[in-house]
Amino acid sequence: MNPLTDILSLLLPRSCPACGRALKDWEECLCLVCLGKLPVTSFHTEPDNQMAEMFWGRVNLTQAIAWFYFRKGSAYQDMLHKLKYNDRPDIGFLLGRQYGYELSRSDGFIRPDVLIPVPLNPRKQRKRGFNQSEAIAKGLSAGLSIPLNSHTLTRPLATSTQTRKSRYDRYLNVSGKFKVTDPALLENRHILLVDDVITTGATLEACAEELLSVPGVSVSVAALAWARL
Ligand SMILES: [Zn+2]
Repeated sequence: MNPLTDILSLLLPRSCPACGRALKDWEECLCLVCLGKLPVTSFHTEPDNQMAEMFWGRVNLTQAIAWFYFRKGSAYQDMLHKLKYNDRPDIGFLLGRQYGYELSRSDGFIRPDVLIPVPLNPRKQRKRGFNQSEAIAKGLSAGLSIPLNSHTLTRPLATSTQTRKSRYDRYLNVSGKFKVTDPALLENRHILLVDDVITTGATLEACAEELLSVPGVSVSVAALAWARL
């Protein structure tokens, strides 16, 4: 976030990132209407949910969860777009924190030891100024009171953009592109990998594979939204 956006966010009334309505004092992130209408998945209460199923035979995950279903043309799609492209990591933080509150109240959620955001291509991060998955992970970390580690899983090489590629192409494109820089820091930990939207899961699969090469590690994945293909 740049300093000007920072100052403006202090001066302007807070607004709902989905519908744009001014937020009441007690509304923390989405307005109560948008929060009530959010197409939530409740994947954290279903170990064999559809998103977890998508990873079967690809990578061994402890839990695979997303807060809500991604629906094209919805206000929530606009919200995720704003977060990513309009320099609004604050939206990611607030949504992540809210999801964290929901998860911390659920018996189905398997608490990890540490949260790790999916690293962005460094060139993209320089251009965007922030990593949207890290913004979400920071919020989740606050909502769940679980530490965050943003520096041990890295993405040293630039990969070409993933648009219009098949799932297998995408997998080949990202496989081996992530590196754990200090394995001792992660040994024997249950790691929750955090992303914004899950589609093919190729990036998460490649990240999880790299993390699972560390002795004693188990991996779960969480995203704000799941875009069923
Ligand atoms: Zn709203």
